[in-house]
Amino acid sequence: MSDQKVTKVVIAGGGTAGWITAAALSKQLGPLLSITLVESDQIGTVGVGEATIPTHRTFHRLIGVDEQEFMKATQATFKLGIAFENWARIGDRYIHSFGQIGRSTWMADFHHVWRRAQAEDLATDLGDYCFELQAAEAGKFATSEKSPINYAYHLDATLYAQFLRKKSEEAGVRRVEGRIDRVEQRSTDGHVEALVLQSGERIEGDLFIDCTGFRALLIEGTLQTGFEDWSEWLPTNSAFAVQTEAVEPARPYTRAMAHDAGWQWRIPLQHRVGNGLVYCSEYLSDDEAQTRLLGNVEGRTLTDPRLIRYQTGRRKKIWNKNVVSMGLSSGFLEPLESTSIHLIQIAATRLIQLFPFSGITPAIAARYNDQSANDLRQIRDFLILHYKLTERDDSPFWRRCRDMSIPDTLQERIDLFREHGHAYQAPDDLFRVDSWVQVMLGQRARVEGYHRMGHMMSTAQAKSALETMRSNIASTVAKLPTHAEFIARYCAAGKPG
Ligand code: FAD
Repeated sequence: MSDQKVTKVVIAGGGTAGWITAAALSKQLGPLLSITLVESDQIGTVGVGEATIPTHRTFHRLIGVDEQEFMKATQATFKLGIAFENWARIGDRYIHSFGQIGRSTWMADFHHVWRRAQAEDLATDLGDYCFELQAAEAGKFATSEKSPINYAYHLDATLYAQFLRKKSEEAGVRRVEGRIDRVEQRSTDGHVEALVLQSGERIEGDLFIDCTGFRALLIEGTLQTGFEDWSEWLPTNSAFAVQTEAVEPARPYTRAMAHDAGWQWRIPLQHRVGNGLVYCSEYLSDDEAQTRLLGNVEGRTLTDPRLIRYQTGRRKKIWNKNVVSMGLSSGFLEPLESTSIHLIQIAATRLIQLFPFSGITPAIAARYNDQSANDLRQIRDFLILHYKLTERDDSPFWRRCRDMSIPDTLQERIDLFREHGHAYQAPDDLFRVDSWVQVMLGQRARVEGYHRMGHMMSTAQAKSALETMRSNIASTVAKLPTHAEFIARYCAAGKPG
């Protein structure tokens, strides 16, 4: 007989976080658990969150999602990176691509060789040595079983939640429609015992997953876990989002266009474009933000602009008692590098790995919390980098960012890069060496030192190696279909019904 102590899982909330968690748990542990998800159509979801990173593909493989089926169902397009406009200086532009740049060796990464060649005028832009970046610039795309191209997706958040809901219900998840009115706690230890809905229905569970978005109904509303505020380093706190008609073929990358108090995103889907203006309300009023957004979109607006307020930081304990928070209830880092959906996916994967079959104890929660804190911390540092390394002094917002003190963990990385040209990816880090390098250089970090590996080659050898690499990439990109052509034959979604 099984002595499994946790069998009844209750997921509160059915946005992207709720349905990702439901889909992952039901796919991997379904036969061992009874899973109920409660959501309220009346409250709705945050409705944004439409750009992802390449780990999305890994997650889909893990839960058995077919790429073409998913892309058709969510009007998805391919994403090869993010173009940052006006970040270091007005007029600047660089792409943080998902690709590998050049060829690195165990001794040193490619950008050291490039740096040496650049000093002798032998090298062109670093991006010329990255296949994904060149494909993005050319608006080209193709993928196949054997293709090494690294990519992510742009997707419709509402359609994605519906897609995952269908998968989850097929795998046995019970969905309950209704508004949670009350959360009941056990008198002995304060663990959550049941959710009571407005209808009076009572839903009991052993483990509760709080996916109620910024409301954080269980983790904060009930357990008052506390919040660690990171807004001193990431000062934006508001966003207006609006959807528009597509007026050009979808580019295979996200645009992040800085303005004087934040930045604006543009995310191309098959059937429309997602836009949003992210800003700090200390430096820009809501009215100005809305006007600015509407003045800088292309195509007819399809929705009214919607204001979203947020606080940057994290819940002090992501897992507290028998409540695990996921998604916006666990904390929020602004969407500059599209990391929130990734954080939900990694959290769901971690919950599967650390599932408390033998009962909920402080040790299991502590392990989960340590790992989650590390994920958030390193993404936080990478985001701060974009703001800190700016030369903009055209507004109080950018002066504040440029002059702010930053976490030691990030300062050490910047110093190491400036002094020696080294970037690194520690074992549990999300961002690759090439990500750090592209953003540091894109933000105009002044690099003094570099590894001398490149000096082992003669000038002629270095020149020829770089030219060969560049022309191979250019000729491969030239043979690719356009992004639009590839979507049309691989995953066309058709007009929304
Ligand atoms: P929500 O979508 O808010 O869902 C909450 C759920 O809880 C809903 O189903 C609601 O009905 C339910 N609920 C709440 N209270 C109750 C109640 N009392 N009773 C019953 N049900 C209840 N992420 C990315 O990865 N890429 C991006 O490009 C990106 N852009 C973003 C831009 C902005 C401006 C913001 C704010 C976020 C962005 N994100 C992005 C984050 C992403 O939107 C979220 O991580 C994701 O949508 C998960 O949200 P959620 O499910 O936690 O919350």
